[in-house]
Amino acid sequence: MSQLEIRNLHVSIEGKEILKGLSLDLPKGEVHAIMGPNGTGKSTLAYALMGHPSYEVTEGEVFFNGENILEMEPDERSRAGLFLAFQYPVAIPGVTVANFIRTAVNARRRALNPDDKGVPLLEFRKEMKAKMDMLKMDHAFGGRYLNEGFSGGEKKRAEILQMAMLKPEIAVLDETDSGLDIDALKIVSEGVNTLRGKDIGVLLITHYQRILNYIQPDVVHVMMDGRIVESGGKELALQLEDQGYEWVREKVNSAA
Ligand code: ADP
Ligand code: MG
Repeated sequence: MSQLEIRNLHVSIEGKEILKGLSLDLPKGEVHAIMGPNGTGKSTLAYALMGHPSYEVTEGEVFFNGENILEMEPDERSRAGLFLAFQYPVAIPGVTVANFIRTAVNARRRALNPDDKGVPLLEFRKEMKAKMDMLKMDHAFGGRYLNEGFSGGEKKRAEILQMAMLKPEIAVLDETDSGLDIDALKIVSEGVNTLRGKDIGVLLITHYQRILNYIQPDVVHVMMDGRIVESGGKELALQLEDQGYEWVREKVNSAA
């Protein structure tokens, strides 16, 4: 059984159907890329997985470790080990990066063990400094208000830092590459590569194949009109880079 199983997922926003029967299997520890043209529903999938209230699931199932997460509240999903890095992270004035992450880490620890007293402050600071070093971030970053006045690159690094500290079982990264210059892209990719392994599965949502030069996916899926229409190895990403999406559309249309 795959760690994440999405079966025939239909999702509507304001009555308009965006996901139209999407199915996907993410086995434990694998990195799967989801590529597709703009407006095809990639972010909708990410939001629906996290349980955003504006995204109405009208049909289908999503199993995470065998449990139907569609019946769980967003915070329960996150405590269960699902992590989403947003395409457009929101600012949280008055809450520092360090406090935000510590609260989330403690919530996750309590979900795993109700008697947990929370991570000791010194231990937390030590680990966060090590993770910041890995992501080549200034230690002062932890004291800044989350996403307030952050550059595009800083927002993405802050998300990878959250992921590194939270150690989710599955991370959904929605266009973590967008707006990054090549140095920031390399750092973020290095961060993901360091974290990937048998314990964490990644759904890497991207419009461009550029990030896939740095993060080698096990499987590449092509999404179009709210469905996965093609899956393959990393050579599929190169083919898309080379030939665009039109050939996939033609293939889908001729099969229909
Ligand atoms: P992608 O991430 O692949 O570019 P999205 O999931 O963001 O695509 O969007 C899919 C479709 O849903 C688009 O047609 C978009 O206009 C529409 N959409 C996304 N968010 C909303 C929203 N909050 N309200 C109404 N329509 C939306
Ligand atoms: Mg998007």
